[in-house]
Amino acid sequence: MLEGKVAIITGAAAARGIGFATAQVLSGYGAKVVLADLAEPDVPAGETPQLEQRAHELRNGGADAIACAVDVTRDDEIAACVTQANETHGGVDILFNNAGVTVGFGPFLETPIEAWDLQFRIHIAGIVAFCKAVIPSMQVRGGGSIINTSSIWALKAHEYASIYTTTKLGLIGVTKTIAVEHGRDNIRCNAVMPGPIRTDMQDRRVVRDAETFGISQEEARARIGAPLAMKRVGEPHEIGEVVAFLASPMASFITGAAIPVDGGNMEGL
Ligand code: NAD
Repeated sequence: MLEGKVAIITGAAAARGIGFATAQVLSGYGAKVVLADLAEPDVPAGETPQLEQRAHELRNGGADAIACAVDVTRDDEIAACVTQANETHGGVDILFNNAGVTVGFGPFLETPIEAWDLQFRIHIAGIVAFCKAVIPSMQVRGGGSIINTSSIWALKAHEYASIYTTTKLGLIGVTKTIAVEHGRDNIRCNAVMPGPIRTDMQDRRVVRDAETFGISQEEARARIGAPLAMKRVGEPHEIGEVVAFLASPMASFITGAAIPVDGGNMEGL
């Protein structure tokens, strides 16, 4: 389905993350993958993304995979990554903007402006910069597909999640704007809106919810899947399969869409 296509995937270094699972799915469909994530010394304490290790695992499985150390808040590192992809593979066909953070959860009045700034830089400005860096290469190749990771929380405000909700909703605006301006270049731009997915980020949410709402971690975990029609949380590869579809010719007439992948959030059904 993606034979010979070149895909950059940001936030791809967490072993249990959506980014790495998507890299596995895309390479399984034949794509050459470029894993982009923080260089290991930059990873915050308590988190364990290992970029080179992930690329090595994919290559061991027969994939064509390289690693790019990129902090998406750094334009120079984004440019170097796209240059590396262009030089190694001759261009870029697919960009999955997936890097994300959850700093700054808490009551609105207590949210530090630094946390607003950081999430804006990662969830909006970093994605804008990556799109600006790859679109010229896609134009030369006659098209491409950009997929951005928003969140189902973009659709509805949640208590204590003001920064995340705002930036993930703003990202849909970026998605639609690129779709409108670059459809004529055969460049499609869509967003996925994951519901709760079993990753390190979700484990951090369980700890946070337990502290915020004064409940046990077991109760916090049970509350997450309960409102979903499917009564379970999702697995990272279930986002990866939708990304592969959006990247593929099967989605050749889909652009500007934000697709929920959330097990049927009953508040919205
Ligand atoms: P994760 O924490 O496992 O992975 C996030 C990755 O982003 C990490 O590898 C991290 O190193 C990387 N990253 C963070 N800051 C970066 C930066 N400045 N530059 C480059 N990389 C950076 O999280 P995940 O659950 O796999 O989440 C992936 C995406 O999905 C995020 O955008 C998240 O907001 C979104 N999402 C997750 C869920 C969920 O339930 N897990 C739900 C909705 C949306």
